[in-house]
Amino acid sequence: MILPGATLGVLGGGQLGRMFTAAALTMGYDIIVLDPDPESPAGRIATEHIDADYADAAALDYLGRTCAAVTTEFENVPAATLETLARHCVVRPDAKAVAITQDRIREKTFLRDNGFATAPFAAVRSENDLSEAVRNVGLPAILKVARLGYDGKGQMRIDNIDDALRAWDALKREPGILEQLLPLDAEVSVVLARGADGVIACWPVGENTHRNGILDITVVPARVGASIAHDAAAVAQQIAAKLGYVGVLAVEFFISNGGLRVNEIAPRPHNSGHFTLDACVTSQFEQQVRALCGLPLGDTRLLSPVAMVNLLGDLWRGGEMPSWSSLLAQPNLKLHLYGKRQARPGRKMGHFNLLAPTAEQALAQARAAQRKLADAPR
Ligand code: ATP
Ligand code: MG
Repeated sequence: MILPGATLGVLGGGQLGRMFTAAALTMGYDIIVLDPDPESPAGRIATEHIDADYADAAALDYLGRTCAAVTTEFENVPAATLETLARHCVVRPDAKAVAITQDRIREKTFLRDNGFATAPFAAVRSENDLSEAVRNVGLPAILKVARLGYDGKGQMRIDNIDDALRAWDALKREPGILEQLLPLDAEVSVVLARGADGVIACWPVGENTHRNGILDITVVPARVGASIAHDAAAVAQQIAAKLGYVGVLAVEFFISNGGLRVNEIAPRPHNSGHFTLDACVTSQFEQQVRALCGLPLGDTRLLSPVAMVNLLGDLWRGGEMPSWSSLLAQPNLKLHLYGKRQARPGRKMGHFNLLAPTAEQALAQARAAQRKLADAPR
C-alpha cells in the first residue's frame, strides 16, 4: 500500500486531474501534475506542476523517480509514456488498457471479440473500406474518427453514400469506424473501480442526456428497469475484469429497443460520475486514489438521489462569468467550477449536483436551476 505522505503523479491537468488532485491532497498525498498548459486547472492546485509534453523524456524521468505511483486523467496519453513510467513506479491503469480504449477501432473490436453487444460497426481505413462498411452496417450511420474524438467531435452523421464520402473527406480520411445509428430509448453509464486484487466496487447506474453530442445531465438512480440497471453493472464489471483493469473505469451504454449496447469505455473517472462527489460515501476521485495506491476501495453507496448538470462555456456570454447567485441560493445544490481561464462554447467549465428526495425531483429542480442560470441578467 502506498500511504498518505507519498507523492503521486497525474498525467493531464484538466478538470478530471484537478478533482483527483483535490481528493489526493485531502487524503494527505503530494501531487505532481504533468500538463503542457502552464495554467492547467489541476496544475494550479497541485503540489508541483511540470509543464512539459507527455513524451518529454526528462519530465518522465523526474516523475518516475519522484512519484510512488502515476495515473492519468485522459486516454490520449501515448501508451509509450505509461510503459516508460511503469519501469520506475506503479502505473494504473496500465498501457494495455489505455491503448485499447484510446482507439475506437481497437475498443469496439475488443468488445465484439469478447461477446459484448455494441452497435453494428465496421473499421474504416480506406475509401474501399468505407463503401463496404456502408453496405455491411447500413444507413443511417455515424462515421467516428478512431482517435482523439470527444464530446461528439470527430463524428458525422451519414444518410447516403455521398454523405459518407463527404464525411470521410471532412474527417481528413483518418482511420475510424462507421457505426449504425441506433434508435435510443435512453443512455446510461456505469462507473466502477477495480483494485489490483480484482475486487470491484460499482456505483449506481447513471442516466445520461446529451445536448449537441455533449453530456448535459446525469440522473441517479437511472430511471430504467431494475434488470437493465443490473445488467449494465454486470457488463461493466465483466469488461473491467476482461481488461485486467486496475483503477476507475466508466462504461457508456445505449439502450436501444429495450436492449443494452456498449457505446464506449473510458479508462478514468468520467463526467457522468461527478454525482459521486456529493451524493456518495466515496467519490470517483477518492476511489482513483485508493485504487492507485492499493488501498481498500471505499463504499460506493448512494446517499441521496441526485442530478448532475454540466456548465458549459456557452454560459459565459461575451467571456463574462455567469452570475452564480441563483445556484448558490439553493441549499441542496453543490457548485463545482474548474478554474479554467478561457470559456469557449461547448467547453466544460464546471458542473453542479442537486440532491433531492427522488430522482424525479432532483431532475426537475436541476432543470429549473439550469434555466434560471441561463436566463439570469448579467
Ligand atoms: P464523449 O467522449 O463525450 O462521451 P464521444 O465524442 O466519444 O463523446 P460518443 O460517445 O461516441 O462520442 O457519442 C456521443 C453521443 O452521440 C452519444 O452519447 C449518443 O448520444 C450519440 N451517438 C453516438 N453514437 C451513436 C449511435 N451509434 N447511435 C445513436 N446515437 C449515437
Ligand atoms: Mg461518449
